[in-house]
Amino acid sequence: MKITKQEEIRPICPYCEKELDEIYVKTKGVGLITGKNAIYFCPHCHKILGVGQSRMA
Ligand SMILES: [Zn+2]
Repeated sequence: MKITKQEEIRPICPYCEKELDEIYVKTKGVGLITGKNAIYFCPHCHKILGVGQSRMA
């Protein structure tokens, strides 16, 4: 498998299909899960793109 570095094409949100030049991350006041969790979401439609452990908290 070949991995090609690509800086020109931006990822697209799977929900609203807008280009993501940034991704929002929320680490406080999530409410669903206690602990140091981070929620990554689209800045356009605010849908959740992923959940992970935050190492910055
Ligand atoms: Zn979106």
